Amino acid sequence: MEKSLIRPSFVTQFSCIGSDCEDSCCYGWNIIIDKQSYKKTLAHKELKSLAQTALKKVKKSEQQWAQMVLDSKGACGFLDDKQLCQIHAKAGEDLLSHTCKTYPRMSHMKDGDRYESLSLSCPEAARTILLKPDAFQFERMTVNHHRTFKATPIWAKKAHDYTIQLLLKPEQPIEHGLTAVGILMKTTERVANGELESSAIDDMFQQLLSLSNNGQLKQHFEGFNKDTEIHKMHAFTSMQLWLNTNKAGRGRSRFEQINQAICAMGDGDNKISMGRINQAWRDVALPALAEHQTLFSRYLFYYCYHMNFPQVDALTPSQAFRVMLLDFFMLRCYLAVIAAQKQGLSEHDIILCFQVYHTNRQHKANYSQYAVELLDKGQFEDLASILTLLA
Ligand code: SF4
Repeated sequence: MEKSLIRPSFVTQFSCIGSDCEDSCCYGWNIIIDKQSYKKTLAHKELKSLAQTALKKVKKSEQQWAQMVLDSKGACGFLDDKQLCQIHAKAGEDLLSHTCKTYPRMSHMKDGDRYESLSLSCPEAARTILLKPDAFQFERMTVNHHRTFKATPIWAKKAHDYTIQLLLKPEQPIEHGLTAVGILMKTTERVANGELESSAIDDMFQQLLSLSNNGQLKQHFEGFNKDTEIHKMHAFTSMQLWLNTNKAGRGRSRFEQINQAICAMGDGDNKISMGRINQAWRDVALPALAEHQTLFSRYLFYYCYHMNFPQVDALTPSQAFRVMLLDFFMLRCYLAVIAAQKQGLSEHDIILCFQVYHTNRQHKANYSQYAVELLDKGQFEDLASILTLLA
């Protein structure tokens, strides 16, 4: 069967920076290797002695046969004193575990086509996606395979394509694009539930384009009740506290930098308010991001592509939208607190915020479910309330 492989240029442009990496993936991860690789590593003349201590048999299955042993700093036992991987240096890529061979490369299947991507939990991948020029050129290659697949429902295809168009509409602030996507997801949800025909999504998309062109979308956005500071602060602190429960490991020290920046926002009584975070966003972060005008549109484009929005986990289209807004909101808060602490934002700081957030998000297996529950409890259960996170 003839199918496609879709590869964005950020995948082609990416290259691991090894020992120059600010948060190496060779730290703090339980890397599992299969039985064959375990045996080959033990049989390799230059690796066998080290492998006796750097590998531990777990024998959970043929695929999960052994695990890399980490030292007291969480470093993989195969790293040398220059922080370079000795398996890669002495035996080549073939002997690396599947995770080491592929990370941060990922892919998802849709209608039998493969869509390649990168994980934002790798700092260099984040830099490539968010900051490098021409990161979003796509090439399509023909491949053959006979795997079965489930066809994507028409509502999901339309919602995905229209979302990207609304977010990337030229000259439109990203907040207005997100407002339009929220409205589109309400209609999409009704189509997914069988209450409306799929043509309702086309009609709504056209309507939203007109509303954007004649300024009514802006009015709509500005008309939302923005007096939800307490709820927003609650959402932010609940999410941050939950991410704080991640086990110590990779990314932890960088996560602590965010925690310290949050604490530094406290007033005389050590109280942190959304008002102070918003002020830091407006007064310091936004001017510092003037050189990176496309930062959030790149991020949201990547988000839609990488997560196949709105078919995210088992969420409904409206839930997927609310989780997307929570991610956007958290990142904006991170940038604001770091900007306040540093009195500006370097490229390093921007990558810190996105990479640390996504590393921690990725380590929560039930992230999206928790996020939806948190939003429900925090009175962000409908479109009008969730859009206040953009204010
Ligand atoms: S996190 Fe990315 S850049 Fe850093 S060592 Fe791993 S693959 Fe390389």
